[in-house]
Amino acid sequence: MRTFEASVVTPDGPVYNAEVEMVIAKAKSGEIGILYGHVPLVAPLDIGVVRFKNGDQEKVVAVSGGILETRSNQVTILAQAAETPEQIDIRRAEEAKQRAEKRLHQSHQDDVDFKRAELALKRAMNRIDVYRHFSR
Ligand code: ATP
Repeated sequence: MRTFEASVVTPDGPVYNAEVEMVIAKAKSGEIGILYGHVPLVAPLDIGVVRFKNGDQEKVVAVSGGILETRSNQVTILAQAAETPEQIDIRRAEEAKQRAEKRLHQSHQDDVDFKRAELALKRAMNRIDVYRHFSR
């Protein structure tokens, strides 16, 4: 399969860059797979894992929302935050999960706090998932 350049960039700098055959990401509209020659696309991403495949190699990045853009056979993910499995501090993610769960129990009266806690919980669970399944 033909390869193309894929990268993940955050406000803190680049997180990942590689030649790949396929990118699989969780867009707000559902899972999307991108191969060489994909039509230009801009898609908002959900909190989730992005997979980069090349042959039988697979690398993943935990992405906390953002935008995926593909054009001229390049895929760029602009993310609010993103980490490779090796970059994830599992202790921090577990503490964040506990804090978010506590806030969810306390904030039923306040929609804004509830939504914020829900998103924090989703980010933490995504990091824990990526760390558990892909770090070595
Ligand atoms: P926390 O409450 O622990 O800060 P958060 O979900 O609110 O978690 P974010 O706002 O998504 O954190 O990210 C802020 C910065 O911290 C980003 O650069 C992100 O990559 C980094 N970060 C957050 N959690 C972790 C983690 N568990 N391991 C490594 N980096 C992390």
